[in-house]
Amino acid sequence: MTPQLSFYNTASRTQEPFTTLHPGVVNMYCCGPTVYHYAHIGNLRTFVFEDLLRRVLDYNGYAVKHIVNITDVGHLTSDADTGEDKMEKGAAREGKSVWEVAEFYTKAFMQDWERLNLKPPTRWTKATDHIPEQIALVETLEAKGYAYVIPEDGVYFDTAKFPRYADFAGLDIRGMQEGARIGVTEGKRNPTDFALWKISPSDAKRAMEWDSPWGRGFPGWHVECSAMAMKHLGPTLDIHCGGSDLIRVHHSNEIAQSEGATGVTFSRFWMHGGWLLEAPTADGNGGGKMSKSAGEFVTVDLLLKKNYGALDYRYFCLGAHYRSYLNFSWEALDTARDSLKSLRRKTDPLIGRASAIVSENALGWQRRFLEAVYDDLGFPQALAVLNQMLKDPDLLEGEKAALVRDFDRLLGLGLAEKTEREEKVLPGPLAALLEERKDARNNKDWKRSDEIRDLLKGKGFGVKDNPDGTTSWFPL
Ligand SMILES: [Zn+2]
Repeated sequence: MTPQLSFYNTASRTQEPFTTLHPGVVNMYCCGPTVYHYAHIGNLRTFVFEDLLRRVLDYNGYAVKHIVNITDVGHLTSDADTGEDKMEKGAAREGKSVWEVAEFYTKAFMQDWERLNLKPPTRWTKATDHIPEQIALVETLEAKGYAYVIPEDGVYFDTAKFPRYADFAGLDIRGMQEGARIGVTEGKRNPTDFALWKISPSDAKRAMEWDSPWGRGFPGWHVECSAMAMKHLGPTLDIHCGGSDLIRVHHSNEIAQSEGATGVTFSRFWMHGGWLLEAPTADGNGGGKMSKSAGEFVTVDLLLKKNYGALDYRYFCLGAHYRSYLNFSWEALDTARDSLKSLRRKTDPLIGRASAIVSENALGWQRRFLEAVYDDLGFPQALAVLNQMLKDPDLLEGEKAALVRDFDRLLGLGLAEKTEREEKVLPGPLAALLEERKDARNNKDWKRSDEIRDLLKGKGFGVKDNPDGTTSWFPL
């Protein structure tokens, strides 16, 4: 019997058989990054989980419409719509315009995406490309009586008008009202009310602002996701994903404003990835959820600098269930790197030797692997099945190879491809490029040197310029 797909749905707090609104089609929206800085590997863990989900859906033959947004505007540093604008903060830090900052970190994010072997979404959507849609959504909410204006401040969503507001995250609204702090935006009717549109202060010019029926300003952070998801995927999505830190405020708000506007369920499944936890640093900073502000800021670039491959980190993520906390440490990453290496030693000789999967035994291994994966993305168990399968003496080599190729469609570890990753020598044309780069550097032609570095990166190799003037290369 073919195993059935089932996923844990945050909305119902149960694991449910997966079904779609329209046969054969999955409309999936994933909250993307705010591009004011590099993504750290804790952010990226969520996108690895979403990639695994995407691969399972593709594997099952669904036509997946997969949208990931780029938040390039108007995201204040606090969930309570107060604090600085993250984009403007990034621009001030780097002495660049907000547009330059957004472009730079969007590119950096997409590069991380590729390095981690994440499948490209059907569409990336930028918040700044969807200002009219966001304004239209706020107008609809205003017309339906969900919104109110605080003069010279902004348009707010009245959460008391949406009685189900607290249900999604199980919020204790009464407790929140009693505990409402001073400093909460003056004029807000309820502590959970949130900004749909912020009006620019009359005494300050913002770098990113637009005209609106309420005055010049910028959209609230939450409204972009609802507006873009509904524009590209329709009023009801099949799956909405994000990190579990988004449940309480961002996703409660997305539901309130989307369902307030349309009157129908916004997303049938809500799936959330668990946090990556970091140990406190020696001086006692950090610990807990990995963040940009505390502890060590670990990016994919840093991993590469330390001679890890991006796929070592992907393998590390696969070793824990996506909803569990995962403790990051360099020692744990070493273990993942060693395990992936030893797995490759077993799978590399099988590359290119796949036959058909026909024997009862092979079909049994395939079924056990899929049972694990289809049971709310049980990839740690699936990896164990893969390792056991490779040890099975009764399995013919051709079938083993075919199973590896089949499983890797879901794992995304590049186990079934002939790559140069493991080779000790740079392939000829690339070696010549590296030589050319050496000359360029000697001639202080940094532009050409960077071009070649990027070319090599595209081929899966990083280069490192050593203090002694030599250059080393390493597989990414
Ligand atoms: Zn979102």
